[in-house]
Amino acid sequence: MDTENRYIIKADHILPLLRKLQMQFEILAPIPGRGKDILFGPLKKIEDVIINYNQMLPSPKNILFPQIEYLFNYESKNIKEYKPENFGKILFGLHSCDVKSIKILSDFFLRQPIDNYFKSRLENITLINIVCTNPFDTSFCESTRSGPYLKSGFDLQLTPMENKYLIEIGSQKGAELIKNYRWFFKNIYKTEIEEQFEIFLQAEGKLNRGIDFSTVVKRIQNKEIEFSFWETLALNCVDCGSCTYICPVCTCFNVVDKAYSDNTGDRVRVWDACTYRGFTEMAGGSNPRKSLAERLRHKFLHKLLYTIKDFNYPGCVGCGRCDICFGHIGMYEVAKKIINY
Ligand code: SF4
Ligand code: SF4
Repeated sequence: MDTENRYIIKADHILPLLRKLQMQFEILAPIPGRGKDILFGPLKKIEDVIINYNQMLPSPKNILFPQIEYLFNYESKNIKEYKPENFGKILFGLHSCDVKSIKILSDFFLRQPIDNYFKSRLENITLINIVCTNPFDTSFCESTRSGPYLKSGFDLQLTPMENKYLIEIGSQKGAELIKNYRWFFKNIYKTEIEEQFEIFLQAEGKLNRGIDFSTVVKRIQNKEIEFSFWETLALNCVDCGSCTYICPVCTCFNVVDKAYSDNTGDRVRVWDACTYRGFTEMAGGSNPRKSLAERLRHKFLHKLLYTIKDFNYPGCVGCGRCDICFGHIGMYEVAKKIINY
């Protein structure tokens, strides 16, 4: 058993550690929102951090891929590029599935041609996730190999134990952080790794939902799913785009000019949704995916077929966020319908 990249930190040393880290980094973490909400946002007061929570948070997608991103300003032929902020940030207390979603976003944005805005942000971010020992009722992360714990993809991963956390190093960035704050961390005993393994098993055992994605993919590939399936789904869809916006791995965007005069303005990238009619509409009104059924079909085929073909994993981390759809067109329900079709 590998004790080398694992350490122990006492639970009551987490806040002092964050306090130290805050001198070097901006920390984004789960903090109280309105009412009983918990949000993922900048940690101003260390005591505000919520470490043990059993609630769905907005995904961190917006931190790396902002909903509205100013790319450059133009004034006739003068172009001034907006540079993304490049100071060090720590995303602390992420769910495991959200770390996996950042890996999926990275695979998309760092393909050629590389998106330098995304790249610059990613390079300056350290990802620290906490193993979900009490996964949400709506999660199916194990089916997408995105949780409740991770084997890779994190910089540091914390497993909650009694009065302590087991901390695992997943990257050079994580190793540097441990090295720089070494006095917070104790060496680990082999028994603590066994304890961690038990915690992993128990967490997996608490997941209520699972999807056999290979069956879903096979049924689509074998063309068993007729177009009428998507037409029926579309009857319940109002094309609000919420499922795309809330999804931590959806990357649809549009690029528009925000003109201030005939020759001045900003070029801006904004989130879009492939279910929107305008997403594929071309000049003159021609549209290769005219009907909502075609667009919904495309959205699911992208996640369940094309992403698997390109990257060998589905375009989904099983977070269950798209359960917000009041038409019941979230990934879990659609995948189940495909299996039972
Ligand atoms: S599937 Fe649901 S959430 Fe998505 S666009 Fe349609 S109605 Fe909105
Ligand atoms: S498709 Fe739904 S369950 Fe999958 S990652 Fe997106 S929001 Fe989460």
